[in-house]
Amino acid sequence: MSDSYDIIDHQHDVIVVGAGGAGLRATRGLADAGLKTACITKVFPTRSHTVAAQGGIASALGNMGEDDWRYHAYDTIKGSDWLGDQDAIEHLTKEAVPAIIELEHDGVPFSRTEDGKIYQRPFGGMTTHYGKGQAERTCAAADRTGHALLHTLYQQSLKARAEFYVEYFAIDLLMTEDGACRGVLAWDLQGGQLHRFRAHQVILATGGYGRAYFSCTSAHTCTGDGMGMALRAGVPIQDPEFVQFHPTGIYGAGCLITEGARGEGGYLTNSEGERFMERYAPNAKDLASRDVVSRAMTIEINEGRGVGEKADHIMLHLEHLGPEVLHERLPGITETAKIFSGVDATKEPIPVLPTVHYCMGGIPTNPYGEVVTLKDGDPDSIVPGLMAVGETACVSVHGANRLGSNALLDLVVFGRAAAKRCTELVSPGQRLHADTTKSEEAALARFDKLRNASGNTSTADLRDSLQASMQKYAAVFRNTDSMKEGVKVIGEEVAKFADVKVSDRSMTWNSDLVETMELQNLLECAIVTMTAAANRTESRGAHAHEDYSDRDDENWIKHTLTWYRGDGRVDIDYRPVHLQPLTDEMEHIPPKERVY
Ligand code: FAD
Repeated sequence: MSDSYDIIDHQHDVIVVGAGGAGLRATRGLADAGLKTACITKVFPTRSHTVAAQGGIASALGNMGEDDWRYHAYDTIKGSDWLGDQDAIEHLTKEAVPAIIELEHDGVPFSRTEDGKIYQRPFGGMTTHYGKGQAERTCAAADRTGHALLHTLYQQSLKARAEFYVEYFAIDLLMTEDGACRGVLAWDLQGGQLHRFRAHQVILATGGYGRAYFSCTSAHTCTGDGMGMALRAGVPIQDPEFVQFHPTGIYGAGCLITEGARGEGGYLTNSEGERFMERYAPNAKDLASRDVVSRAMTIEINEGRGVGEKADHIMLHLEHLGPEVLHERLPGITETAKIFSGVDATKEPIPVLPTVHYCMGGIPTNPYGEVVTLKDGDPDSIVPGLMAVGETACVSVHGANRLGSNALLDLVVFGRAAAKRCTELVSPGQRLHADTTKSEEAALARFDKLRNASGNTSTADLRDSLQASMQKYAAVFRNTDSMKEGVKVIGEEVAKFADVKVSDRSMTWNSDLVETMELQNLLECAIVTMTAAANRTESRGAHAHEDYSDRDDENWIKHTLTWYRGDGRVDIDYRPVHLQPLTDEMEHIPPKERVY
């Protein structure tokens, strides 16, 4: 190590890394229960990516018509293309109802129906009576639901006296030699010191890794830091091959036009003016699940029916809804369309293209947020002291394809469950004995090495190259050759990281070093994604394999587990999908053909 560092020590009952919806819901629950809780975040809490969530949060409240959480569970299982764990999905959909009431009582300013109930809109793949009717299930605060949720949860966490460490960058987990997590090493970006946070439980809530791609709807902060930390600690990532493309990213800019826009009556057309979704999904049409719509759009473009000079995009029509509906229900969308595509959505269609949006894969957990691995072949063995919630986790409720408005729900239901589990595992002020010296030395050495990295490869160039590769090789449609090439090319990019150059050596506001650490996390997420994709010889949900175009239930109803062994090497194993529900309140939903 070339520099020595003074490290500031902290001890808490529980540490949460991340202050998006998931991290804040966990933080609030922990602090409310009297546990000494630290929430560490690299950006100010209300700037977390959750603030961008638009359309809403699903819950079978039945405010706008008949509904039942069992219908919601059925839709989620079907949406997941039978890769979701049915016990976790039962928990998600049943708990959705009290979770939304709790948010309402906490102060989330939901839009209202005429008679004062929470307003709910239709979303893709959300039905009643097991696929027969269209559900109105997505609770919305206009098209700014994430903003409303995040601000409310932050205020509630402050009220509960959680301690926030804002603009602290978590570097690595502190693990004991027998594999328990007992803390995290973090860097205060403003003060310039390193901090050792020790606790009985660490909850990772660091969001997804959309920024591994060139065109995505995610914030620049979505760099898979939690997954990188987990991989370096020997913890696997589950199902990373399933990356969701949202059908309606604005062409050229990537910004999202919420599915709520189609929920309010918007529709897609090709260059012939045809509402082509009627051919692909005769019942649900434009409100089929996202993987189905994104594939249909890509086929239209590939077969020469794309719009524009290059015939490379599709049109989204909202103009027929009229200015009043757009103003009241979708004000943010109208503004986004104007700014990013120069279109007045009240008069003209918006040019759109499938854009990377959500990572179904993540750190494997049980429904209580505890990280599970495959220790000694046991598919449910727990990593002591480590939990994960939100987009960085894979519970798995989304399986191979997430339904719109189930992500915000995932944050609050499992953020709450993780906090509750901690109250069973930890007593306030309980003493902590844990030797994490070895992993701490490794974390410090990695930090120091990167800070002094003096190779010839610029972080920005390598990131550009990675993003282009992921866009090309881990695309909506993949095939054997493209994925084989992708593993090779991304492997070379991972190797190139050894030659990275960091010019700024300072300890304060060093964006050069922050971006380099983020790039390492992105590279690790990318190589496990590409390798897992190349290994899955079937098509399921977001994994559309041109050489194996059918779903193969006989061989592939199983979760992928990937371990990163360094130097571009990835180990793969599989664990069974939980096909049985948690209780007898719900029936097992057997796999069947997925038509919308
Ligand atoms: P984030 O909100 O991404 O928060 C991550 C947190 O981790 C941040 O506080 C960050 O500072 C912190 N962090 C990360 N790395 C570090 C580190 N190294 N050190 C310290 N802190 C760190 N879903 C829906 O259900 N409904 C919607 O309407 C909807 N709309 C969406 C619109 C857009 C444009 C996008 C992209 C997604 C949308 N989603 C929606 C998905 C949903 O918003 C996300 O999945 C969800 O917000 C992720 O929340 P999170 O708490 O897991 O992570």
